[in-house]
Amino acid sequence: MQHESLWNEAVAFTRSKSPASFEQWFSGVQFDGMTDGVVSLRARDEFVREWVDQHFLPTLLDYLRSQTGWSMQIAWSVGGELERPVASSRGEPAEGRARTLSNGAHAVRATDDVGAPSANDEPPVSRRPVTAKTSAPPLEGLNPKYTFANFVVGPSNQLAHAAAIGAAGGVGPRHNPLFLCGGTGLGKTHLVHAVAHRIRAERPQSRILYVSAEKFVNEFVQALQENRMSEFRSRYRERCDVLLIDDIQFLASKTQTQEEFFHAFNALHQADKQIIFTSDKYPQQLERMEERLVSRFSWGLVADIQGPELETRVAILRKKAQMEQIDLADEVVLYLAQTIRSNVRELEGTLIRLAAKSSLLGRLVDLDFARQEIAATTSPRANEAGVDDIQRVVCHHFKLRTSDLLSKDRHKSIAFARHVAMYLCKQRLKCSFPELGRAFGNRDHTTVMSAVRKVQHLRTTDPDVRAHLEALERKLGTND
Ligand code: ADP
Ligand code: MG
Repeated sequence: MQHESLWNEAVAFTRSKSPASFEQWFSGVQFDGMTDGVVSLRARDEFVREWVDQHFLPTLLDYLRSQTGWSMQIAWSVGGELERPVASSRGEPAEGRARTLSNGAHAVRATDDVGAPSANDEPPVSRRPVTAKTSAPPLEGLNPKYTFANFVVGPSNQLAHAAAIGAAGGVGPRHNPLFLCGGTGLGKTHLVHAVAHRIRAERPQSRILYVSAEKFVNEFVQALQENRMSEFRSRYRERCDVLLIDDIQFLASKTQTQEEFFHAFNALHQADKQIIFTSDKYPQQLERMEERLVSRFSWGLVADIQGPELETRVAILRKKAQMEQIDLADEVVLYLAQTIRSNVRELEGTLIRLAAKSSLLGRLVDLDFARQEIAATTSPRANEAGVDDIQRVVCHHFKLRTSDLLSKDRHKSIAFARHVAMYLCKQRLKCSFPELGRAFGNRDHTTVMSAVRKVQHLRTTDPDVRAHLEALERKLGTND
């Protein structure tokens, strides 16, 4: 087939430009045909697709264009068996190699199954230190592993996940802006990157701008200093179809940047360009942020992410272990998920650390090993929730906004939730009544005292109240 030979030429050309890693990546890619200027490719997984897309396709497409005079498009499909990969799989991506971590009979092998010892001076993967653990360098600030496929959905993040899919142009309504908030390490950045990956895959011509708010501030300041404001403005107002701003709380107190951002927001929003924010707080809780910005943050949808439930933590561990090719016994998974409750980043970090350590020591990760490691490295208070967390969990439970809890609203249901939150804070945290008063919208300490007493009383007399408290305590985890 004529097309196939053209494709083969393009492949040979691309290989000649980057011989080192070509085989690795193209062993995960299959050519499914070429018609009407569209090249159909299949990738073994999302990760391979992203990588090849980024690193090889520009060269490949340039070659095809030079030969045919057409601009070619790529149609990707992802997953499934590859019967005829473009390259042989001799040199798979280095991180794809097993580090075995198991309850089973086999310890980590000192020389793994890469095949004959390699001629270069890289040590076998299983002997590499922790740094060999995971991902490739980030692409334009995007982590290739933060995809929807790698995101575990549970009750705690369902809304945020669905909203992110919608914002990426998938099923469901598209809210603009979308404001994702929640505590640290709960997957906000992961979701935003997933949106970017999805849009890039489905609408490659869309101009996506992903920046942390910190970077936005720095760029702004630099543009001011160097008299390049018009360039800066055109970057954020005109040359942008999707704006993703991570950790918007960083704009706090940056008055001038807020002003600039306000105009960028308006321009984009008016042009119906999708905007997504992440933040560690709800809009109303952001301090030293202009009111008009705070109100705009809530124009679309505010979706929060809570700490994951046990089942979700288990599923996340399984997914990460699978991605990192770590073989982990069920009882170890469960133990880790039960012990590390505060955030996913910590959960993941512990998993990777255990894997690395077991590999270095040549010791299996059984329950004992996991216990020892965790006892040695976690401080007893590390998993404790703060007032913020308790307020968030209570609001989620009663379907209120945190701002309601802090407000002067005396509606019965709101006041009840507020009292419950105060009670839980008093039970679980070492805060004084005046401290709690301040944390609940600057209330008097006597208000907190009477709220706590009231809930204490209701707990023993009203089964409904007891049920609410027990459910909330389950969500917050044991208080030890
Ligand atoms: P945040 O931005 O909220 O602080 P991140 O998005 O950086 O948190 O997430 C921290 C780590 O936890 C990342 O490695 C991310 O992949 C992982 N993570 C968080 N939530 C999930 C989830 N639901 N499924 C899979 N991984 C998750
Ligand atoms: Mg983040």
